[in-house]
Amino acid sequence: MKKTKKINLTMQIVAALILGVIVGLLMQNHQAIANTYIKPFGTIFLNLIKTIVVPLVLFSITQGIISLKDIKKVGAIGGKTIVFYMCTTAFAVTLGLLFANLLQVGKGYILDSSSLVEYTGAEMPSLVDTLVNIFPSNIISPLLNATMLQVIVIALFFGFGIIAVGEKAQPVANFVDSMSEVCIKVMGMIISLSPIGVFGLIVPVIAANGPDVLLPLLKLIIVCYVASIVHMVLVYSGSVKALGKMSPLKFFKHMSPAILFAFTSASSVGTLPFNMECTEKLGVNKEVSSFVLPLGATINMDGTAIYQGVCAIFIAQIFGIDLNLSQQITIILTATLASIGTAGVPGSGVIMLTMVLQSVGLPLEGIGLIAGVDRILDMARTTVNITGDAACSVCVNALEEKKAKKKANN
Ligand code: ASP
Repeated sequence: MKKTKKINLTMQIVAALILGVIVGLLMQNHQAIANTYIKPFGTIFLNLIKTIVVPLVLFSITQGIISLKDIKKVGAIGGKTIVFYMCTTAFAVTLGLLFANLLQVGKGYILDSSSLVEYTGAEMPSLVDTLVNIFPSNIISPLLNATMLQVIVIALFFGFGIIAVGEKAQPVANFVDSMSEVCIKVMGMIISLSPIGVFGLIVPVIAANGPDVLLPLLKLIIVCYVASIVHMVLVYSGSVKALGKMSPLKFFKHMSPAILFAFTSASSVGTLPFNMECTEKLGVNKEVSSFVLPLGATINMDGTAIYQGVCAIFIAQIFGIDLNLSQQITIILTATLASIGTAGVPGSGVIMLTMVLQSVGLPLEGIGLIAGVDRILDMARTTVNITGDAACSVCVNALEEKKAKKKANN
């Protein structure tokens, strides 16, 4: 019964996506109508998701910590997660650079100086500031602004606080447990509306991105998509199989609702509720997924890293600038950091791209060229971003289970 429901939802989302593309193509000359009458459905849907995502993360992480009852175990999960995230992201930029160089992504593009616009770069935040900003200065603003890392820190502290108090905090622990269940139910209700949301999100994007916009940058789009697909197939299939002991086919099949939603919404944070539901169906423990996924939606952006690598080479090539090996290594480092700093919302990767370009002295004006098709690129990178988080949760879950089994046998 449950299974048919899931397949139905996936099929409904696919149908909504296809219908959205067709309607979008038909509405290319009627963008205003699409924006006035169809886009609001997508906006309402995304707003609903944004509403549930903060309490969902807050309560499910706190509840996860309480049920782990062990600071060492949290540390073990956290350590594995960070190592997985860092390695896959560095690999992703390298892959992006490799494809961009091999396929000569900027070759054949005729630079029209009238399309260049002034662009001011994002300031590279200092390492100290970045660390300081992980910690909240009050409880309300991280929840209001959905600052995920700070929400995670609050949840960790309260989770450990509840464990430390013990018996007396049992009512709070029960409250957290029920609230987490309630949030999951509400999330399920919102997710069942996703076909409407997907339709409302995709129509205006397709209507605004006709062939005139896409064709001149087709090579850039193709290189980004090819590198993204190769990364998903190589790295995620490989790690899910090797570390997670799961068939990649099963992984991608169960992940399809989250993947489709990430593709349409271009928001990792917005896709978080889908990701939590899909990984649960894959058998990932809630203690693992409730920690690994929100963290990933905030700091793990492999798709964004690929995109930043490809775009850096694209801009260098169209401006006729040769990047030597040490500059390309600088790109690997800065793009890894920039992707960590990228927020899981539409369009934030392009802002952080300025940091990468600045690090090797590439002209920021190049971003003006990419900006026109950025949404189409964002759809691919967000898909990779959330799939990476899910793959990590499957692997960490399997490793933790293996450890527990070993311990039980001893
Ligand atoms: N939209 C992406 C995400 O939410 C971030 C980016 O713009 O690269 O994952």
